Amino acid sequence: MSDVLEKYRQFESAIIRTIPGANTDRIRSAFEFARLHHGTQLRKDGTEFVTHPLAVAEIVLEIGLDEDSLCAAFLHDCIEDTDATFEEIEKLFGPDVAIIVDGVTKLTRVTYTSKEEEQMENLRKMLIAMVRDIRVILIKIADRLHNMRTIEYQTAEKQREKALETMEIYAPIAHRLGMQKIKWELEDLSIDYLDPIGCGKIKRGLRRQQARDESFLSRVREMIQARLLEEEIKCKVEGRIKHLYSIYRKMYEQNKELAEVLDLYAFRVIVDDIEDCYYVMGLVHELFHPIPGKIKDYISTPKPNDYRSLHTSVIGSEGVPFEVQIRTVEMHQTAEYGIAAHWKYKEGREGKVADEEKFAWVRRQLESYQESDAQDFFQALKIDMFADEVFVYTPGGDVVSLPAGATPIDFAYSIHSAIGNTMTGAIVNRRMVTFSHILQNGDIVEILTSKSSKGPTRDWLNMIKSTEARNKIRQFFKKEKREENILHGKMNFEAELKRQNLQMSDVLREDVLPKALARVSFSSLEDMFAAIGYGGVSSQKAVNKIREEIRNADKLKKKEPEPEPSPVMVLKPPREQKAKPVKGVMVESLPGCLVKFAKCCAPVPGDPIIGFVTRGFGVSVHRQDCVNYLRSKKEPDRWVNSTWADTESGTYSTEIQISASDRKSLAMDIMTVLNALDIKIESFSARNLGDGTAFISATIEVKNRDELVRAMARLMSVQGVTDTRRVDG
Ligand code: MN
Repeated sequence: MSDVLEKYRQFESAIIRTIPGANTDRIRSAFEFARLHHGTQLRKDGTEFVTHPLAVAEIVLEIGLDEDSLCAAFLHDCIEDTDATFEEIEKLFGPDVAIIVDGVTKLTRVTYTSKEEEQMENLRKMLIAMVRDIRVILIKIADRLHNMRTIEYQTAEKQREKALETMEIYAPIAHRLGMQKIKWELEDLSIDYLDPIGCGKIKRGLRRQQARDESFLSRVREMIQARLLEEEIKCKVEGRIKHLYSIYRKMYEQNKELAEVLDLYAFRVIVDDIEDCYYVMGLVHELFHPIPGKIKDYISTPKPNDYRSLHTSVIGSEGVPFEVQIRTVEMHQTAEYGIAAHWKYKEGREGKVADEEKFAWVRRQLESYQESDAQDFFQALKIDMFADEVFVYTPGGDVVSLPAGATPIDFAYSIHSAIGNTMTGAIVNRRMVTFSHILQNGDIVEILTSKSSKGPTRDWLNMIKSTEARNKIRQFFKKEKREENILHGKMNFEAELKRQNLQMSDVLREDVLPKALARVSFSSLEDMFAAIGYGGVSSQKAVNKIREEIRNADKLKKKEPEPEPSPVMVLKPPREQKAKPVKGVMVESLPGCLVKFAKCCAPVPGDPIIGFVTRGFGVSVHRQDCVNYLRSKKEPDRWVNSTWADTESGTYSTEIQISASDRKSLAMDIMTVLNALDIKIESFSARNLGDGTAFISATIEVKNRDELVRAMARLMSVQGVTDTRRVDG
């Protein structure tokens, strides 16, 4: 107990040193509030829980955040883990602290359901987009850093899971915010759990060459220092081995051994001003041989996260290459702490914002802030990086990125155009919403579809934000409807021709068609059919006009001496959209959709089938005699007609059940029969029911129903078998 209090006393003096004028009473009461509420709760390492928020506050202080952030750091787990409420915190510490704590709590609740790579980027973006105040994400990163530092007390599974999240989400966010120091530590802590074998190898290797490395580092450091002293340049020179993860990446990406990783050493020269940076680079190049093409000037061209520094790679007299980074104190601060360093500097200057340049990247990435005064700087900072995007979940837990202001229609089309085109309703966070409902970050969105849907209407175009949805809806109007219209129009037109005793071949005559089209003012027959189908022109009117042209052409023909046989033009039928079957199944009105086979009835080619549009957006294919289909009349709209494609190939897995009187080697005989029929057995289980009978269930792979029926018939002839049947739900 007194241990914690002693730690807090030390921390308090650090606050006084770092933030002059900080209200230590207020910060102390945040500490005490956390201590009180977490009570007897212990961490996995056996220490009092409050040591965690205290450690997080220490990191937050090191990053350079303000008094509110320190209070929030102490309270960050209170809403989630204790009975403390938002209102209570707001009352005691003010709305800013409460909002930050609330923000951190929300980030804590984000679930990482998917571990797929493309999902990670979206999750990263979503986390950032959820944050209204930049301090929230900074505290969350500090929280994660301390949790990673103490992760050895967690289970192996938890370790891997947290390490992956940290590597894929938190380290990249730290990087994006320019917090190099924390990013490195997060990466080094994570990789150790993600690949303990690889890291162990590196660590052992580094330990072996430690003495050699250290003497090399100090030799070079002293050389640089001595030379700069001669020139009377005020500087600080550091030498270090590159961090674990960067060595790891070099070794495993380039397939090298530790001994082959050449640029293992890095030196850093920190000087007072930019002029000195360039001057020092010149001196370094006098001392060592610069490697051509390895000079990087991030001062004149800063990195997107505002990293600024000069880099050069050189080779010393010992033939060992190393990198030297040269930067000012301020650039160094920015490189280590990123966005937070900007704030620190700004506050140090008492709100004087002369150097707009310095904040350029923050402004680019963060919403514009009012240049009022220093204290307001952070409060006004809002993340803009993804202000034009919104991130929502599918019911399956995948994150979908949409433009800000997007509606369920955008969402539906982002999943599949067939989903959009058959959309009949939307459910957001389990509530039915309108089509024009604006989606918010973290919403769970589900689309209801129906094959009897008439498709998008013109006003949908006013409700959407994404170009994807726009294009797909336009395509629908143009293509799907057009083809439908052409078909209808052509049928009407042909019927009318027939009624007037004319033939299509008359219309297609070379001496008729161009004039006929001109007469009806269409550039092609398809266009005319489309117009008829749409109802823009009546078929009767069109045929009447064309009939006159046929007569005119006939008159002309009689005058002409020798009618030349003209090649018959063939009307191309409207291009049929031939959808490809998925897993051998064609799902009506949802071409190309995800197909899975229902386990309850395990259909195979030859079985009459029906599709069920699942909530996970795939179509689950059932047998038409499946009890689940026969009994489910609840959601008739979700059932879609499905057929097997003619070009069935491959095998389908299905389950059969066999009853038999138990005897020795019964299972063996059944397997032998299946084997003789060249049928692959996926799983096989035999159970003695105790009354002298056995129940066998086998999942097998067959090409089609015929093969399955043959196999079942064959199994009936196995001695003792009384029944074979398929699963029926
Ligand atoms: Mn925490």
